[in-house]
Amino acid sequence: MTDSRSSAAATALSYLPQSRHLATIIPGPRSSALHRERQEQVTDGFGTVLPVFIDRADGGILQDVDGNRLIDFASGIAVTSIGASNRRVGERVAAQLERFTHTCFMVTEYESFTQVAKWLNEHVPGDFEKRTALFSTGAEAVENAVKIARSATGRSRVLVFDEAYHGRSLMTMAMTAKENPYRLNFGPFPNEIVRAASANPLRPANAPASGAGATAGNNDDGASPAGAGVAAAALASVEATLLEHGPDSFAAMVIEPIQGEGGFVVPAPGFLKGLRSLADKYGIVLVMDEIQAGMGRTGTLFASEYEGVAGDITLTAKALGDGVPLSAVTGRAGLMNAVHAGGLGGTYAGNPLACEAALAVFEAFEDGTLLANAQAIEETVRELLEPLVAETGVVAEFRGRGAMLALEFADRGTLEPRPDLVREVSARCHQQGVLTLSCGTYGNVIRLLPPLVISQELLRDGLQVLRQAIIDVAVGQPAREDTAPSFA
Ligand SMILES: *Cc1c(COP(=O)(O)O)cnc(C)c1O
Repeated sequence: MTDSRSSAAATALSYLPQSRHLATIIPGPRSSALHRERQEQVTDGFGTVLPVFIDRADGGILQDVDGNRLIDFASGIAVTSIGASNRRVGERVAAQLERFTHTCFMVTEYESFTQVAKWLNEHVPGDFEKRTALFSTGAEAVENAVKIARSATGRSRVLVFDEAYHGRSLMTMAMTAKENPYRLNFGPFPNEIVRAASANPLRPANAPASGAGATAGNNDDGASPAGAGVAAAALASVEATLLEHGPDSFAAMVIEPIQGEGGFVVPAPGFLKGLRSLADKYGIVLVMDEIQAGMGRTGTLFASEYEGVAGDITLTAKALGDGVPLSAVTGRAGLMNAVHAGGLGGTYAGNPLACEAALAVFEAFEDGTLLANAQAIEETVRELLEPLVAETGVVAEFRGRGAMLALEFADRGTLEPRPDLVREVSARCHQQGVLTLSCGTYGNVIRLLPPLVISQELLRDGLQVLRQAIIDVAVGQPAREDTAPSFA
């Protein structure tokens, strides 16, 4: 097993040694000089997780301008799943570069656009005839799903959920839940967006503030009555929200099958199915935002497959073009064709370079190795990190699927979020050459999004660094036995 996993990484790429290497402190002197220059030229409105400048990237490694080789647990936020310098992507894009870079699909056509649409129509969940529209960014895909749903239903409202993230454009920012940094000072927002409860097993929306969360903690995968209860309570609340506003005023409900920026929240089992039923009952278009969780990230091509639920419309982006900007809206033919001719588009929508990159991504998924890799990544991460829930008093939950995994930091018993620990653990990882990301409403979640082509050796090395950082930081924190009684 180990052999096939590492050879998948080796055949995909590999001009950079797949090992962590520290040549300087992180960030090194060249990165620091470049960062100072950046600060003089680039808006401060862009945050930076780690001010290191990358020279090359390959497999599970980011090599910076000081010669440090960092382990990549980010994939550029779930984008470079098949490697940041995948050979087939490079070949296809280079060949297309020589032919032409752009025509604008609304002006004259090219075949790769159709081929990308065809693959998505065949592979996106849903046993019905489909059509696809291509765009460039995830936010554009979300915006266009709303346009299509409104056009097809003649309704205007859009239902979104707690902890949702859908982008940074005006509409999608308004659909996003978290205020800081996404919405702060950027209003007023578009009307007609209504937010409903999500089904977060650790922090159920309708549960009493303390206690219930703690029972649901250490996620049992929700097979227990507690998990089922979370989904049922959330669904009752969602339906109440629909009824309050008039269900037939809703064009769409938009949900992430695993919430990304909101904290890698895997909805309690049954929640997605329940939303499917509510959408059917009230004639609402169910939009599955698979932009982060889709395209193999969770060990299936689409995360909604785990629940056997198909959206009427499914959105992909991020890993779709392996870093060449491409997004897609794939849905029921009747819905997708309800829009008047000329109503959809965009200058760069489905750019030919990006379509070639996507075709290389589809080829890479053909033999199933990458999906197996995602599952193998989960096994290894689970083995090394899940015990921290029991071993420390501050890791409240290990969750996620495939290569989309997270640890939530919160005090045992009270579930008081601990973003301070996340900052400290992340800083220690970064210093040692392991690039981790955080997320969550409270900024108290460390998330792992390694490329699916990372070798098991590299993965283990990075995880050992992370594990040790957590243990070191957790020392001096109240132990789990001490915490509960003091708040009782
Ligand atoms: C990243 C993301 C988006 C927005 O994609 P952009 O390409 O950044 O516009 C939308 N939905 C989800 C779930 C995402 O993770």
